Amino acid sequence: MPASRYRRVLLKCSGEALMGEGEYGIDFQTVDRIAAEVAQVQKMGVEVCLVLGGGNIFRGVAGATEGMARASADYMGMLATVINALAMQHALETRSVHTRVQSAIPMSTVCEPYIRRRAQRHLEKGRVVIFAAGTGNPFFTTDTAAALRAAEMGCDAMLKGTQVDGVYTADPKKDPKAKRYEKLTYMDVLSNDLKVMDASAISLARENKIPILVFSLHEPGAFAAVLAGTGKATIIEGD
Ligand code: UDP
Repeated sequence: MPASRYRRVLLKCSGEALMGEGEYGIDFQTVDRIAAEVAQVQKMGVEVCLVLGGGNIFRGVAGATEGMARASADYMGMLATVINALAMQHALETRSVHTRVQSAIPMSTVCEPYIRRRAQRHLEKGRVVIFAAGTGNPFFTTDTAAALRAAEMGCDAMLKGTQVDGVYTADPKKDPKAKRYEKLTYMDVLSNDLKVMDASAISLARENKIPILVFSLHEPGAFAAVLAGTGKATIIEGD
């Protein structure tokens, strides 16, 4: 495996990516498969941050449509990301990858609270840091949390693991004429409302000049290959 082009990266996986073929919750085989990808990259000497979504368990909007206060429903969504983080920590540690979970909502008996300098120290020691509970604030998403933590940790790149190998003009699973983009600018994504990450995440990445690489989480070895520059991904960066 060639060397990585990036020293420190953040991988964002949606909660749905952890469901496997299921319609809800956690598929442990799928979590283990993603953990294998992370372990491979960590062995290349890359410092890895992880942000997981919570959509496989609960989304704030779902609670709000049932009449819950949006903020309370969002806290439920944030707690869902902690559940996913613990599942991923288990999968990584089964593969002997040292891992720390840091939650934006302090819960000291479960995991560490988010402390920026402490997280940086873990990364320097080669530990994978999983940032849980999003930003800790309602009305945000884990995409924004990913961009925020990537900026705080000084990541060289943010990776978005998806079902397909990049950004397309339409969903390639539904539209055979959909075209894949090799490269995009942050402004292309924002002005064409391309469904990559939400607008605040893209803006944050843009302001902090963090390239976003969109790649397939289903291709074994893809995470490592994309970091080495030999894999398939759509890269989003400045002009
Ligand atoms: N959430 C939040 N603040 C954050 C991050 C997440 O309130 O900073 C809540 C929100 O309700 C969201 C849920 O957590 O619906 C799960 O996160 P998200 O929808 O981003 O997960 P994904 O779509 O990536 O699975």
